[in-house]
Amino acid sequence: MESPLSRSEHTIAAIATAPGVGAIAVIRVSGKDAFAICDRVFQSGKGKTLALAQSHSALFGTIRESDEVVDEVLALVLKGPRSFTGEDTVEFSCHGSTYIQQRILDLLIRNGARSAEPGEFTLRAFMNGKMDLTEAEAVADVIAADSSGSHRLAINQMRGGFSNEIQLLREKLIEFASLLELELDFSEEDVEFADRTRLIQLLDEASLRMQSLSASFESGNVIKSGIPVALTGKPNTGKSTLLNLILNEERAIVSDIAGTTRDTIEEEIVINGIKYRFIDTAGIRNATDEIERIGVGRSFDKMREASIIIYLFDPSETNPEELKVILNEIRNSKGDSPHIMIPTANKSDRYNTDFLKKEYEVVGDVIFISAKNHIGINELMEWIGSFTTENLSSQNQTILTNIRHKESIDKTHAALQNARNGLVNGLATDLVAIDIRTALMHLGEISGAITTDDLLESIFSKFCIGK
Ligand code: GDP
Repeated sequence: MESPLSRSEHTIAAIATAPGVGAIAVIRVSGKDAFAICDRVFQSGKGKTLALAQSHSALFGTIRESDEVVDEVLALVLKGPRSFTGEDTVEFSCHGSTYIQQRILDLLIRNGARSAEPGEFTLRAFMNGKMDLTEAEAVADVIAADSSGSHRLAINQMRGGFSNEIQLLREKLIEFASLLELELDFSEEDVEFADRTRLIQLLDEASLRMQSLSASFESGNVIKSGIPVALTGKPNTGKSTLLNLILNEERAIVSDIAGTTRDTIEEEIVINGIKYRFIDTAGIRNATDEIERIGVGRSFDKMREASIIIYLFDPSETNPEELKVILNEIRNSKGDSPHIMIPTANKSDRYNTDFLKKEYEVVGDVIFISAKNHIGINELMEWIGSFTTENLSSQNQTILTNIRHKESIDKTHAALQNARNGLVNGLATDLVAIDIRTALMHLGEISGAITTDDLLESIFSKFCIGK
């Protein structure tokens, strides 16, 4: 592959809409020859060329190969720098047959465009200063978002809140680094330009912030991949019956999301736009290997990871006292991590629920259901839905969702701490300055102020073609 830095010479083209047949499809062309190339295949109704059309206007016309009309299309003209990529751009809306899409793309390529690589439009937007790296990465996340929680995170990131914060910190550190470096030029005179107390204060504040950002990665990951739910309990309490029921009942909601299939959503449900993920349920389906007594091994591992724990029991086997002990045991293992526990009595078709409800009041809220007869399932779903992403994060807080950002934040944090320790212990100024420069380099990697070709390749190759 060519270097990202040298390939912007070419004009690129790609089908930007999803593969397959749709009512319409969009073909995107971007680069310095976009208008010239498109004018070779497009004829507007009024004989106007795209090159002479006003920016942000749409022209109706035909795509032609020699005298043959391939399709009637609408051409959107966007002149650089006022376009997504920052370059001259044409977007053709054509009819959605795959044959037409492919033929128009082929025509454009034969007339001088090059087929775009994955993420190349967004890469150009980044190269032309239309967005920084975190915002470009968020474009991919916005496209991939499949619940309101992950969508909110991605949109926030795309709009640049996180980048602004990083940029501000970089500016402050750059100022100090320059002052320290200036001192080195005057080393004979033994002067101090950089106020040490203020610098230590800044390093402390920044370190704390790096720590909390790094910690936010865990909740960010949860929001992106779904709030983890553990369904647990002794053997034969009805876990697999309940799991199958929930996944089947909720399928109607889940299948509203375009492009999902039964396979990929297997253990996921969406309630009010929030995704919930049943963790490690493989064992439940063939429940033979579940452990006899709650309190051992695998079951606890699942619960440690979970934000929601459904503890299923059969009241004819587990009395209120025993239940209390078990729930306490689980609670203790969870420590401070935010979670809810839903003690759920199954097989309510077999006993007098009113009587049992009173008996179990000493335990707290217990839900009575029958997985087999579909009783109480709505109440259970309401309980699950009451734990939302807000329990994990507040709306305005920055949350890291990208492992690349987390790694850079961690490295920044380490360098800031080194700088601080160096200052406190009277380390030579040039060494402290190096630590601050290291911190700046890692911060710069996040926004893309400092990049390498490898980094850009690895980020943009994960995009789909046409984005
Ligand atoms: P697991 O071992 O916890 O996964 O339990 P299963 O889902 O395999 O269920 C164990 C047995 O309990 C099966 O025979 C189920 O049909 C039965 N069962 C599950 N839910 C109910 C229920 O609500 N009422 C009754 N009466 N039986 C149930």
